[in-house]
Amino acid sequence: RAKESGRTSMIFDRQMHQEIVEAINLEADLRAALERDELLLHYQPIVDVQSGRIEGFEALVRWDHPDRGLVPPVRFIPLAEETGLILPLGRYVISEACRQMRDWQLAMPEAANLSVSVNVSCRQFVKDGLVDHVAGVLAETGLAPACLKLEITESVLMHDAQHTAGELNRLKALGVKIAIDDFGTGYSSLSYLRQLPIDHLKIDRSFISGDDCNGESQEIVKSIIALARSLGLTVIAEGVEHQDQLDKLRFADCDKAQGFMFSRPVDKDAALNLLREAVNG
Ligand code: C2E
Ligand code: CA
Ligand code: CA
Ligand code: CA
Repeated sequence: RAKESGRTSMIFDRQMHQEIVEAINLEADLRAALERDELLLHYQPIVDVQSGRIEGFEALVRWDHPDRGLVPPVRFIPLAEETGLILPLGRYVISEACRQMRDWQLAMPEAANLSVSVNVSCRQFVKDGLVDHVAGVLAETGLAPACLKLEITESVLMHDAQHTAGELNRLKALGVKIAIDDFGTGYSSLSYLRQLPIDHLKIDRSFISGDDCNGESQEIVKSIIALARSLGLTVIAEGVEHQDQLDKLRFADCDKAQGFMFSRPVDKDAALNLLREAVNG
């Protein structure tokens, strides 16, 4: 028995060692990637449920690694958050997304009112400079503040509630919109919804694609929409993959939807094509 557990722990150590080495390599790589412009954004359309029109895009970061290929965010965002690299990474994402959206707006009159949604991590709020950076990017690109939406998770609100509330109010004063991402998966206290300047709730994918037979998810979706209505917030459903899911959302009076049914996240050229197709019917 002792021998066995000894062996397990040796294997475990070796595996842990490998994971640590891998993490260190990845961190050094990510640091270099920021300098070598290996990060890029993909865009996924957000569609009006009633009209089917594209209302905006969510910007999702990708890492075009010379050996590893296109690395998805789950592989490096947690590391970026741990190491603080999320600060320069986050600044890149905000400025690139705003610049790109402004380009599209200028290129096509039909795109004039489109918005771009950007994910913002906890660390970006904790460290100062987010609001000033956003203000600077808006001034530089000429993007209307209301065309920028920042997506934050409930964990951001819980981290340093007072400081975050202050930052959100400053963003609100700029005219930027705030969405709560992955709504329904976080903390149960909802009092913050009344106190903070929030514009949108994004219903987590798990409630949309969850194929539960007793219809519990469907009930949760309905409650979230009712809650949003009573607070004057707009609701976006994420992870919509099938027509029947969209039908249910339309029936439940959900405002917007996003998911593979409309398009996977695509690079900027393909996103522009989606816009052109939408215009030309
Ligand atoms: P998220 O903010 O919840 O983004 C939605 C994720 O769901 C995206 O994964 C998207 O590709 C995926 N998705 C969209 N529609 C569907 C669908 O119909 N079915 C399924 N199964 N999945 C769908 P992605 O791009 O891999 O991003 C994963 C997460 O990484 C994001 O989740 C977000 O938390 C984080 N992330 C991405 N870009 C950034 C960024 O620029 N900054 C920060 N801080 N986090 C980011
Ligand atoms: Ca998001
Ligand atoms: Ca989400
Ligand atoms: Ca998510």
